[in-house]
Amino acid sequence: MSPTPSDAGVAAGDPHDGLAVLEGRGSTAQAFGIPLAVLAELTHRCPLQCPYCSNPVELDRGGSELSTEEWKKVLTELAQIGVLQIHFSGGEPTARKDLVELVQHASDVGLYSNLIP
Ligand code: SF4
Repeated sequence: MSPTPSDAGVAAGDPHDGLAVLEGRGSTAQAFGIPLAVLAELTHRCPLQCPYCSNPVELDRGGSELSTEEWKKVLTELAQIGVLQIHFSGGEPTARKDLVELVQHASDVGLYSNLIP
């Protein structure tokens, strides 16, 4: 029987065996074509103006960014469907006052995180 979306995020075996948990979640992600890592552009804000910047030409203002609670919901749902890693990026992700809170939440829901300024 094929796995169903409700199987997402459920890892078989010892929950304290980190490798088994990762393998279980990786299998779920593979079964549904879910990426193992997601790039989260938390903000377009940045104090620099690098000529090679990949930010869009039309930048979203800080007020139109997802809120802390909206990002937490996204992180939770990503973990539930089998994503393993979140890359916090921007713009300059440290421009977000809630960055530490988001990193903590990512850890709480079982996502590995890294910062891509
Ligand atoms: S977002 Fe990155 S590449 Fe773009 S201006 Fe800022 S530091 Fe430079």
